[in-house]
Amino acid sequence: MPLTPEQDAEIADLRATPRSTLRAVSDGAEKHLYRAMPVLDHGFVRMIDYMGDDAAICQAARVSYGRGTKSVQNDEGLIRYLMRHWHSTPFEMCELKLHVKLPVFVARQWIRHRTANVNEYSARYSILDREFYIPRPEDLAAQSSQNNQGRGDVLGAEESARVLDWLREDAHRAYDHYEAMISDTSPDGGGQQGLARELARMNLPANIYTQWYWKVDLHNLFHFLRLRADPHAQYEIRVYADAICEMVRDWVPAAYRAFEEYRLGGVTLSASGVKCLRRMLAGEEVTQETSGMSAREWREFEAIVGK
Ligand SMILES: Cc1cc2nc3c(=O)[nH]c(=O)nc-3n(C[C@H](O)[C@H](O)[C@H](O)COP(=O)(O)OP(=O)(O)OC[C@H]3O[C@@H](n4cnc5c(N)ncnc54)[C@H](O)[C@@H]3O)c2cc1C
Repeated sequence: MPLTPEQDAEIADLRATPRSTLRAVSDGAEKHLYRAMPVLDHGFVRMIDYMGDDAAICQAARVSYGRGTKSVQNDEGLIRYLMRHWHSTPFEMCELKLHVKLPVFVARQWIRHRTANVNEYSARYSILDREFYIPRPEDLAAQSSQNNQGRGDVLGAEESARVLDWLREDAHRAYDHYEAMISDTSPDGGGQQGLARELARMNLPANIYTQWYWKVDLHNLFHFLRLRADPHAQYEIRVYADAICEMVRDWVPAAYRAFEEYRLGGVTLSASGVKCLRRMLAGEEVTQETSGMSAREWREFEAIVGK
């Protein structure tokens, strides 16, 4: 369960006390504020705060004193121009603060994105909950034979049952020992301190859940989403990126449409790729041997041009 009834009540309380403000407000973001979007079996993403909206991107680009926005069409055209030409700083004027609950092995991939501000739940100070990510059977796949960093076919029923049993058993055994280590260890229960939490936690598996607040500007968030909402990203981080995409689509719809057009749905071609494409458009039969590309580059190029 991602949230307890008490946590749900705290969120409802926050949402029940709106205030008026002079700041830019995005109606799409307001509907997400504080609410948790469930991800995986115990995880979630919650929007805690945001700064700016589509208009703020245009205001920054035009360095305006007032609203700085023109017609909606005009603004959308400007946002698309900025995205198309990699004018990134106006997008940095918008920010998003999220509360994320995620397995530790996902957090290790996520934290590689250095252009964000992070504050993580302290397992030195607090006791971690007995919550582990246990995949659904349909998400348990064999090692891919083509891609060393990917998955192949889904495991058969018998094999997946065996794997799931091991994952559950190992996690709970490790947690039992963690609990025992941090507990009063004296035979009479006379109040002797157990092992420090900062040490006992080293026993816990990488599928235990952690939590953090994560704040990032829109330019770097788009960079994160392009890498992590991509089919090459591991499923367990991709589902978080997909949830964030939903929020961003509502928060800054015009910027998100430009991101979908030029980043998520767009491609980058190498100089050789552009040359080959031009030759192909001129009716020439181009092969890998005549392309000037390696076999792998050629496969990737073919995937782009749909050959
Ligand atoms: C599919 C996939 C597979 C991966 N596999 C591996 C792997 O096997 N091993 C591994 O270690 N990592 C792996 N990574 C992580 C990857 O190499 C990056 O560390 C991660 O995606 C963060 O990207 P970033 O550095 O561009 O992001 P950010 O840290 O958010 O940085 C954004 C941009 O800011 C600039 N920047 C930030 N900090 C600096 C700096 N100190 N100096 C110069 N420029 C900076 C760069 O232009 C950077 O692109 C993988 C990532 C993906 C998506």
